[in-house]
Amino acid sequence: DQLISQIAAGEVVERPSAVVKELLENALDAGGTQIAVRLEEGGVKRICITDNGRGIPPEQMPLALARHATSKIASLDDLENVGTLGFRGEALASIASVAQVTITSRTADATHAWAIEGSHNATPTPSSGALGTTVDVKDLYFNTPARRKFLKSEQTEFGHCAEVVRRIALARPDVSFSLSHNGRTVDHWNVSEIARRSAQILGDGFAEARLPVDEVVGPLRIHGYIGLPTASKARADGQFFYVNGRFVRDKVLVHAVKAAYQDVLHGDRFPSYVLSLDMDPALVDVNVHPSKIEVRFRDGRAVHQCVFHAVQRALAQTSA
Ligand code: ADP
Ligand code: MG
Repeated sequence: DQLISQIAAGEVVERPSAVVKELLENALDAGGTQIAVRLEEGGVKRICITDNGRGIPPEQMPLALARHATSKIASLDDLENVGTLGFRGEALASIASVAQVTITSRTADATHAWAIEGSHNATPTPSSGALGTTVDVKDLYFNTPARRKFLKSEQTEFGHCAEVVRRIALARPDVSFSLSHNGRTVDHWNVSEIARRSAQILGDGFAEARLPVDEVVGPLRIHGYIGLPTASKARADGQFFYVNGRFVRDKVLVHAVKAAYQDVLHGDRFPSYVLSLDMDPALVDVNVHPSKIEVRFRDGRAVHQCVFHAVQRALAQTSA
């Protein structure tokens, strides 16, 4: 059982940044509006994420750490309409099989917090803490040295973690985020809107040369900002696409944006953008891979056309 857990964990928790992603998604699913991420040694030594969400009642704490236990899906029908970021119920169990996990949580109706350490076999004990949840993950891969060997330098692993925080922070300007590494605050974004959050994260160059996109095409809505290639400070890694609030890397979407830029501007520079596509969850399958970075559209052509034309029209305003 332990071995199976550790093998399965490899899928979900391939490196520290994957843990950060899962814990952040849980914090958001719990309705957190203030989220603090504290990392030590690139996340390998410690990943500690605190939210002010609804918390976990003590009787559900062991369940939260059990494999395939999710509080987010009640039936197979729900699977078609996943509204939460998580739904598999395997992240915490996987993380707990390859690291030392302590969860401290307090719900609104509880008089104090509870903590659980280790696995689903453990019993919660009374603790102290504010409303919300802290998940503290220490010594990642302490029991799987082979996996630990595949990790890159502390700075590289931290870079991946920071990128995950940025992706999620860009999707949720309505939530405040802070990120610290080895006790030093690296990023802090207060609650705002996408205009400001994207300027903070993508930089002034983006803020000064960007165009808004907002179009509804049938069941699809595309909105966000596209940067102009004039922004010399444009980041090479400044391309962010979201589908129903989830960061994705998808060939159809990337191709549509690229084609629109080439069509209007004829350049080969590929500027920064932050674009969100919202659609009926039944029209897109996010259930492709545990890391859920890929999606499969029911109608890829319609999506491609929608994105292509929206970006093309936005860019055309400048050359008109
Ligand atoms: P999933 O997110 O797919 O449901 P996880 O293993 O990530 O599975 O989490 C298991 C369960 O633990 C969740 O369904 C949720 O009920 C609970 N949980 C995890 N993290 C939090 C959190 N930060 N706040 C409240 N509940 C949480
Ligand atoms: Mg989850």
